[in-house]
Amino acid sequence: MSGSALYETFARAPLAFEKGEGAWLVTERGERYLDFAAGIAVNSLGHGHPHLVAALTEQAAKLWHVSNLYEIPGQRRLGERLVDATFADKVFFTNSGAEALECAIKTARRYHYVNGQPERYRIITFEGAFHGRTLATIAAGGQQKYLEGYGPKVEGFDQVPFDDLRAAEKAITAETAAILLEPVQGEGGIRDFPMQSLKRLRQLCDERGLLLIFDEVQCGIGRTGKLFAYEWAGVEPDLMAIAKGIGGGFPMGACLATDEAAKGMTAGVHGTTFGGNPLAMAVGNAVLDVVLEQGFLDEVNRKALLFKQGLAAVADEYPQVIEGIRGTGLMLGLKCTMPNGKVNMALRDQHLLAVPAGDNVIRLLPPLTVSDAEIQDALARIRAAAKGLAEAASAAAE
Ligand SMILES: *Cc1c(COP(=O)(O)O)cnc(C)c1O
Repeated sequence: MSGSALYETFARAPLAFEKGEGAWLVTERGERYLDFAAGIAVNSLGHGHPHLVAALTEQAAKLWHVSNLYEIPGQRRLGERLVDATFADKVFFTNSGAEALECAIKTARRYHYVNGQPERYRIITFEGAFHGRTLATIAAGGQQKYLEGYGPKVEGFDQVPFDDLRAAEKAITAETAAILLEPVQGEGGIRDFPMQSLKRLRQLCDERGLLLIFDEVQCGIGRTGKLFAYEWAGVEPDLMAIAKGIGGGFPMGACLATDEAAKGMTAGVHGTTFGGNPLAMAVGNAVLDVVLEQGFLDEVNRKALLFKQGLAAVADEYPQVIEGIRGTGLMLGLKCTMPNGKVNMALRDQHLLAVPAGDNVIRLLPPLTVSDAEIQDALARIRAAAKGLAEAASAAAE
């Protein structure tokens, strides 16, 4: 046996946090870190939000779990609220993002099956995508590093280059069921599909009888300044997977669908033990209470502008470290000039937590409740880290 009792699948930072307060994490030794990783866009309302804590503890005193063999009132309520706030007519609750994607993939395949076209099961995805770690979702994501060693890749996913609409169109065959994409790629490096591309993909799906599936597991629930990122383009999907932010730290996800897209999902064809559990539903409803409050998303957009302008100034000052800023709302990325791992370490040395992503980007995903003062504090830490890196680089060059 080597190291700890845990699988060695995570390259963990040597940090153990004991408690969280809003945008801050505190280690066992009392050191404070500004948390602009937010559990990778999970802690949408920061740590220990009083409304979430109250919702969870009140529910915990009443009832933790009942099977989906029975009515779950909190589930019905959260489902109705998600339907009211989105394109969707129907919701299936899961425990994670990957399971929400699995549900979306199964729903798309069943749609064509009940339409008498069972041969239409293939799904077109885009390079740089991340849809989860189950066998089907690693096939959908198409990244070799996640597929390697796990036997034959699950059949039925065809990948084309990022935002290459001509390639997407050419990839459509008589077996194609759907097109799946993240409106803003998270793991792929905060890369957003241009609004025109989303509009064209919607058109293409309509012309060819395909379903359009959005993965808003990371970019949803206010992260980009709209409740869902698709609202920026005014393009509605037929199916959508959500998770991360909706639970505010409690594990949960959901697959949203139009009535038409979900018509194959009849009694007995899909299920879950824990999905839609009363504790998760209490928290999900509490998250929506806050995010849907009048003016909340306006504040996210105002703070996002402040943060983005500040970041652009740091990038101008230290082009040897930061090449540019990308992203929308509080889903921002530093495109790095030097290796992003190095930049991430320098930020951590400044007690600022961020998340590396593909395309040599550092993700900055503060809680949506972050204050102006915390944004200024983060900017000062980022500037200090960039200054240190720039000075070290020029010293090394001499
Ligand atoms: C995190 C993520 C997933 C997978 O969610 P899990 O809860 O880890 O299964 C899927 N899609 C996107 C865009 C994600 O960011």
